[in-house]
Amino acid sequence: MANATSLVVVVSGPGGVGKSTIVEKLVARDAQLWLSRSWTTREKRQGEAADAYKFVSREEFEANIAADGFLEWTDFLGNFYGTPLPNPPQGKDTVLEIEVDGAQQVKSLNQSALLLFVLPPSRQEQKARLHGRGDPDQKVEKRLKKAEEEEPVGKAIADYVIINDDLESTVEEMGRIIAYERIQRTAS
Ligand code: ADP
Ligand code: 5GP
Repeated sequence: MANATSLVVVVSGPGGVGKSTIVEKLVARDAQLWLSRSWTTREKRQGEAADAYKFVSREEFEANIAADGFLEWTDFLGNFYGTPLPNPPQGKDTVLEIEVDGAQQVKSLNQSALLLFVLPPSRQEQKARLHGRGDPDQKVEKRLKKAEEEEPVGKAIADYVIINDDLESTVEEMGRIIAYERIQRTAS
């Protein structure tokens, strides 16, 4: 995985909390961050960027599991998602935007990974965000139910828990945490 001195930042949290939106902004304002692109077997959403994931068939995904090509992978609500073995440019810090099971796997592989767990201000707001993103009703319900399982685990393993209420404040807060953790690691 990433070289010895670089930081691995794991951004996790329930579906619809705003992880992708936050990470996109963090990466845009901090040139030292390198975002890993995950693989998934799920279909591309309408309006979703073609490079949001590497969209693959189940067979392609399984072949990459067999080839030990993933740092971590999981089955999330019937689709596979996985982080390919990271290869960040020299000097860059890696950002993984993944769900809780994957975050646990990364933490057990790399104790010094920084886990930022993002929570919604309320379940109602999370629901509104999922609907606003265009998720169909059935998917919204599944993701809300899944959030009830994910949150206690995420909170227990997180280095920091952040509530994504106002987007800009969240991005500021997470940027400050990353800056602080970089200093801590250089100092130790
Ligand atoms: P996730 O990656 O966690 O599943 P997304 O980044 O896709 O979530 O965000 C879900 C929806 O919520 C998107 O439509 C996004 O624009 C919106 N969103 C994200 N953060 C906020 C926020 N702080 N306030 C309001 N809407 C937000
Ligand atoms: P979505 O379908 O909403 O894009 O993603 C569903 C969940 O899978 C989200 O919580 C997202 O963070 C997570 N996810 C995305 N990529 C990966 C990955 O590579 N590994 C794991 N474990 N989860 C991922």
